[in-house]
Amino acid sequence: MPGFRTLDDIDASGKRVLVRVDLNVPMNEDGTVSDATRIERVAPTITELSDKGARVVLLAHFGRPKGAVVPEMSLGPIAQAVADVVGRDVAFAEDCIGPAAAKAVERMKDGDILLLENTRFHKGEEKNDPEFAKALAANGDLYVNDAFSAAHRAHASTEGLARLLPSFAGRTMQEELEALEKGLGKPQKPVVAIVGGAKVSTKIDLLMNLVTKVDALVIGGGMANTFLAARGTNVGKSLCEHDLAATAKTIMTEAAQAGCAIILPADAVVAREFKAGAASETVSVENVPADAMILDAGPQSVTRIKEWIGRANTLVWNGPLGAFEIEPFDKATMEAARFAAAETKAGNLVSVAGGGDTVSALNQAGAADDFSYVSTAGGAFLEWMEGKELPGVAALSR
Ligand code: AMP
Repeated sequence: MPGFRTLDDIDASGKRVLVRVDLNVPMNEDGTVSDATRIERVAPTITELSDKGARVVLLAHFGRPKGAVVPEMSLGPIAQAVADVVGRDVAFAEDCIGPAAAKAVERMKDGDILLLENTRFHKGEEKNDPEFAKALAANGDLYVNDAFSAAHRAHASTEGLARLLPSFAGRTMQEELEALEKGLGKPQKPVVAIVGGAKVSTKIDLLMNLVTKVDALVIGGGMANTFLAARGTNVGKSLCEHDLAATAKTIMTEAAQAGCAIILPADAVVAREFKAGAASETVSVENVPADAMILDAGPQSVTRIKEWIGRANTLVWNGPLGAFEIEPFDKATMEAARFAAAETKAGNLVSVAGGGDTVSALNQAGAADDFSYVSTAGGAFLEWMEGKELPGVAALSR
């Protein structure tokens, strides 16, 4: 990973610091924040800069207003939510550029915190328009990016600004990049990846990249059915992308050439109905009844997955091993997650996981806290697993 500067390298006192954060938080109908996790993640950067005497100017997007002012997507109500989390006043300006922003920034004293209105109210944000980036830069001396989750987008506030101002990674960005470096950048071998979830079609690039980097790739969830079917196994009524048989075969060939073991389920929990408490049975994958669906990996498969995790020094995980939201099809995911958490806690494993469903599965298993790192960045985490350069990260490293 190319180097980047962090808050350790910043002389922030008296400076206007533009800080790109992720405040795209879920809201209740009454306009209050329903889950403040994202605010909590960026709070350390905000308070550290404020403590160092910076004038902290927060930039963020909210929703998808597509370049127009959409009042329901105002960041106004979020200013109070940020204030509640950081325990200090947070002022708000009704525009992120122009006179409203300039006046609010001029009024700031050292240590003050100001949130500017939704950057996506301007078309120039998503176009990464240099003029818009310049207008943003007019209110700052330095730029800090603490929004890893938006780093896969080359927008003015995530990429353009880094071209105009001295740039630094915030604490959350730093933590995320360091964790990812341990996961796939320079990992301690052997490295095992677990990739599950519904479909192969959404994860082809990711699988192609992983087989060149890891020692073993565990494929689970609905997407394993596509691999089993490509191999000639009858998967009955299971979720399966039969049209991707050739792709699955290519991935298996690439893996063989790269010396990456592909671990597919040997047994499965099958049912006739996709609902909680449905009657289920465990069968070998060679014996899936024609009218049944595979909804989870079976106990033999879980034992094998645990053996691989036990042998590994590094684990990278995206996607559940089964339909974990519905009992009893949560077992494989829960058991593997708890085992990986215990191995990590015992100091035997570096475990990095991410992606929306994966985070909720690990939380459901009570395993998330013991993982080395759980990324809440959906798209950015997946693009990182695909081996792609993230524009927001590349800009910091330049
Ligand atoms: P993804 O968003 O691609 O990570 O997919 C996650 C979803 O895949 C979850 O909602 C799971 O319920 C679903 N899933 C996992 N395994 C299966 C399966 N064998 N059959 C159907 N859906 C599954």
